[in-house]
Amino acid sequence: MTTTESQDLKVFISSRESVCDECGEELGRHAWIVLAGERGALCLACADLDHLLFLPSGDAALTRRARARSVLSAVVLKWSRARKRYERQGLLVEAGALDQAEQECLADEDARARRREREAARRAELDQQYVQRFALRVRELYPRIPPGREVAIAEHACLKYSGRVGRSAEAKSLDEQAIRLAVVAHIRHTETRYDELLAAGHERWEARAEVEGAMARVLARWEAA
Ligand SMILES: [Zn+2]
Repeated sequence: MTTTESQDLKVFISSRESVCDECGEELGRHAWIVLAGERGALCLACADLDHLLFLPSGDAALTRRARARSVLSAVVLKWSRARKRYERQGLLVEAGALDQAEQECLADEDARARRREREAARRAELDQQYVQRFALRVRELYPRIPPGREVAIAEHACLKYSGRVGRSAEAKSLDEQAIRLAVVAHIRHTETRYDELLAAGHERWEARAEVEGAMARVLARWEAA
């Protein structure tokens, strides 16, 4: 079996104003999009890739390791007007895979410094008060969620909320349905084979149907008071 670049999931950094054809969100210029055939262009949230972290090209060893460790990954490409071709900007990988890959590279002091920089940049983007409020709401609605998960879900929601053009009001993002959607997405990615199925080339609707039962069981367990 050969793995060629053409089979990788691809994310394009758009060069013009984009709108997501699924959620209708205005994504602005230079949006990160996934092309989904006749369904048009999707934002990363709708494509279910927005839980992945961006690892810029440049560190070949780290990139190779992170990719090998990541069940789901995507190549990020940008059109170069000068060279008239798509150029690779880096990879989207799972946070856990990046952590592991960094551990493996830790012998090297530069890798440690880069990791600190990445973590600082990520934290700087987060509105800590919003994260706290969101995490509290998650725990309120899902009292049996394993400790710490509510923070992971809240941080993710916060990045998404702050990174969006035309974002909805904060109150709306904290209503029960919005919290539920965030928890469901988290369960799919962390507690089911969903990412494996996407990585194997399944359509999202197929993969969602496949893991529906497993997802619902975890949700019911976390909900129970
Ligand atoms: Zn969308």
